[in-house]
Amino acid sequence: LLTATGITKSFGPQPALQGVDLTIYAGEAVAIMGPSGSGKSTLLHALAGVVGIDGGEVRFHGNRIDNLPESDRAKLRLDAFGFVFQFGQLIPDVTALENVALPLLLRGASRAEAEAQALIHLEMLDVADNSHEVPALLSGGQAQRVAIARAMAGSPGVIFADEPTGALDTLTSEKVMTALMQVVRDAGTTLIIVTHDPRTAAFADREVIVRDGRVASDSGGDQA
Ligand code: ATP
Ligand code: MG
Repeated sequence: LLTATGITKSFGPQPALQGVDLTIYAGEAVAIMGPSGSGKSTLLHALAGVVGIDGGEVRFHGNRIDNLPESDRAKLRLDAFGFVFQFGQLIPDVTALENVALPLLLRGASRAEAEAQALIHLEMLDVADNSHEVPALLSGGQAQRVAIARAMAGSPGVIFADEPTGALDTLTSEKVMTALMQVVRDAGTTLIIVTHDPRTAAFADREVIVRDGRVASDSGGDQA
């Protein structure tokens, strides 16, 4: 579904990715783990076309996406991808419900339809009670769950999630991962999740370990 071949990316003199080869298959849940600073977020962003790369290529359904103009990559992200970013991402001055409804509206849903769908996803993540609050009134964990609801809304083909359980206690993490895996199993969504937490990673079908900007191990690379 998504293939990275020899991708490299540096920020100034600092190499973040030093030749990553990785194939993600449709409908699998892949956990990307590894030490802080090893390049996990950069890899996730490169796979999704959020950041440009310096070398190598990224293909989605066989077509190169790394060399597309930003406007085309933005359209692809809106049409096919959902995101949970590692750091603050909710729109601060609209409610949780409106945050989740937004991608649905952008994809052409009516307001009533978008809000109904948004509420379903907020309920799945146990934050429906907060639907009319603005992000500043939410706890870190509630905000994170609203962000996950937003990534799931509209049933994108691929969900990219960077530390989605980072601010959550064990029980809430399990609920969130159960909800995400339900989408993977029921809707055939592909899930790529960066995490430090082995319990979160255990929900996935496959574990990829990144070290120093390279894939150091992959539990399912050639048969998944
Ligand atoms: P963490 O677990 O702490 O989130 P990570 O594995 O996600 O770490 P990345 O964020 O991918 O690591 O960063 C990899 C390297 O690239 C680090 O050395 C980091 O300092 C550098 N880096 C990442 N993003 C930027 C940026 N926007 N500007 C400059 N350097 C960056
Ligand atoms: Mg990171």
